[in-house]
Amino acid sequence: MSRQRLLLAALILALIAAFFAFDLGQYFQLEYFKARQAEIEDFRHANPLLAAGLFFLGYVVVAALSLPGAAIMSLAVGAIFGLAWGTVIVSFASSVGATLAFLLSRFLFREAVRGRFGDRLRAIDAGLDKEGALYLFALRLVPAFPFFVINLVMGLTRVRTWTFYWVSQIGMLPGTLVYVNAGTQLATLTSIRGLLSPALIGSFVLLGIFPLIAKRAVEALKSRRVLARWPRPSKFDRNLVVIGAGSAGLVASYIAAVVRAKVTLIEKHRMGGDCLNTGCVPSKALIKSARLIAQAKRAHEFGLKSIEVDFDFAEVMERVQRVIRTVEPHDSVARYTSLGVECIQGEAQITSPWTVEVRTADGARTLSTRSIVIAAGARPLVPPLPGLAEAGYLTSDTVWDLRTLPPRLVVLGGGPIGCELAQCFARLGSRVTQVEMLPRILIREDPEISEMVARQFREERIDVRVGYKAVRIVREEGEKVLICEHGGQEVRIPFDELLCAVGRVANTSGYGLEELGIGVSPARTVETNDYLETVYPNILACGDVAGPYQFTHTASHQAWYATVNALFGGVKRFRADYSVVPWATFTEPEVARVGLNETEAKEKNVAYDVTLYAIEDLDRAIADGERQGMVKVLTVPGRDRILGATIVGEHAGDLIAELIVAMKHGIGMNKILGTIHIYPTLAEATKMAAGNWKRAHAPQGMLRWAERFHAWKRG
Ligand SMILES: Cc1cc2nc3c(=O)[nH]c(=O)nc-3n(C[C@H](O)[C@H](O)[C@H](O)COP(=O)(O)OP(=O)(O)OC[C@H]3O[C@@H](n4cnc5c(N)ncnc54)[C@H](O)[C@@H]3O)c2cc1C
Repeated sequence: MSRQRLLLAALILALIAAFFAFDLGQYFQLEYFKARQAEIEDFRHANPLLAAGLFFLGYVVVAALSLPGAAIMSLAVGAIFGLAWGTVIVSFASSVGATLAFLLSRFLFREAVRGRFGDRLRAIDAGLDKEGALYLFALRLVPAFPFFVINLVMGLTRVRTWTFYWVSQIGMLPGTLVYVNAGTQLATLTSIRGLLSPALIGSFVLLGIFPLIAKRAVEALKSRRVLARWPRPSKFDRNLVVIGAGSAGLVASYIAAVVRAKVTLIEKHRMGGDCLNTGCVPSKALIKSARLIAQAKRAHEFGLKSIEVDFDFAEVMERVQRVIRTVEPHDSVARYTSLGVECIQGEAQITSPWTVEVRTADGARTLSTRSIVIAAGARPLVPPLPGLAEAGYLTSDTVWDLRTLPPRLVVLGGGPIGCELAQCFARLGSRVTQVEMLPRILIREDPEISEMVARQFREERIDVRVGYKAVRIVREEGEKVLICEHGGQEVRIPFDELLCAVGRVANTSGYGLEELGIGVSPARTVETNDYLETVYPNILACGDVAGPYQFTHTASHQAWYATVNALFGGVKRFRADYSVVPWATFTEPEVARVGLNETEAKEKNVAYDVTLYAIEDLDRAIADGERQGMVKVLTVPGRDRILGATIVGEHAGDLIAELIVAMKHGIGMNKILGTIHIYPTLAEATKMAAGNWKRAHAPQGMLRWAERFHAWKRG
């Protein structure tokens, strides 16, 4: 705590202590006011403004210091100044006092509390951002929440001071009126207990929740209004139509079938979508072949003279297709039909909130449905680079068609897809130049993690160019050349093939969104609310098309919410939960993450402790010759609660599972340490990290006592 804060805290503590030490509470008793009422009234008649000023000031101080006595003062003000003036004085004094208490709490505690409980407060902040002043208004109206607690807690959030002030002023008004009015009858009052009858409290509660109910009603009305523009079928052929049979659409239709809804899944291209055909599956299959080649080159490290690797690139790419064909049945029409899903091969077009037109080889037909789930996925982003179209380029959609290894390959983009493919092609024998505009590859990870991967890439002779901005492509003497800007200079990179891996953009046009007025977010994904609903409550979106993540596992996670909300939203809706989202980049070294990393914790101002464990020390990693890597865990300062973790190294994507479960279910480092892990495994790395955490957080005082105890036992 800064000196200023300490001084102010000391001053406030002294004032509060003085209040109790000098028993000032006696002046805030009903009996005291009653006994002195005539005297105080005389004073007010003689000095009306001064009396009003003194009461106002006294009230502000009591409220600002959160002292007991505000209720009695409200009665007294009512008795002395009457209902009208009394209400004016109390209303303004209590709001000013409350705002001062709010500001004091913000100044004294906010930084420290946010540091410790920042992630939890963020949820409250998000609620406040969403519902705005309504939350505060409801709290203010309901007398069950002590006013001083509301002042102090709100100071810790990021609600604006002005908002706090005016909402408090309006929200406290009904309560103020009750007290001041009671004060006008002070002579007949014997206690303040009965002032708020259960009926009155009930009315306040209703008044408090009314705005929230009203907001929901307005939302429902809005939804009705957008739907009212469209003719509604008198009955529906099916409960759900799912557009797109990728990871999101497959899971959505599966869940619908499991709960016995009548569901139709429409796919215009290939069942399985991106993940099966052009994404996760082919990339991981290629990684395996490339990895074998890389491992063979390390034969001497394992006591072998050499391993000769002879391969044909086309055969490697054919194996990739074989792998796809082997996995294909999992996502096939046959399987999903057997699960109870009607599968249609065709292009879907939403024609109204309740109808989808499908164009198939046999012609077009219209399906009526109560709900629609959009799972139309994303496509590779192709940057508007002059000369790119003329030179030709590869994307993650087309790279799988290659049967001749490009001798010189430029990989544009340093994200996970760019990194995975750059390493694969380098291992298969291409001379790879990776071009990234940002200062490092894998920019979402911490700098030292990016550097570990970049170092390995350089060792494998990948030419990693960070801070290089691709500006155009030209042809020079029959050769394709990428021109980049770097440090104010133009740099030429000749190449044979260029792979665009600069991101993926959601498919949001061409199937009816524009016609229905379904919006697109600034991130160019379908605009949805927390329940994954579009402006039409019965049209939902999930997967890459909805964002914010672009992974198979997040697509299927969202699919659950979208489907359940689509089918049962009228009864109960579920907010999509992104509290624990993991992912991995399958380079070597592999990088896996869950929750916050250090960079994000700093950006979000979340206090943390870092625990590191270097995998090079792990017995199994040494035996396997896979010593490169680390476990990095962020925990709440002084506590074992995990805020996030990154694992780098062999099988990091598998190893992180333990930390994902731990985070999801609130298991801390102590419990991980207390869990038996099989020896010798790579999984022990997490336990070792927990051990490091424990050593750093050992209770030093207790240990000193233990040392004394042992010394005493030795005699
Ligand atoms: C090279 C690469 C590697 C990847 N590796 C991983 C990984 O290791 N792990 C991971 O989690 N993620 C990975 N991903 C990301 C993952 O593939 C996607 O996040 C996931 O496939 C998204 O699923 P989806 O269902 O949202 O979309 P998609 O799989 O794209 O499915 C959308 C489907 O909708 C269909 N469609 C669109 N419009 C219509 C229409 N009007 N009518 C009918 N059908 C329509 C499309 O044809 C498509 O089949 C990778 C991606 C790439 C490109």
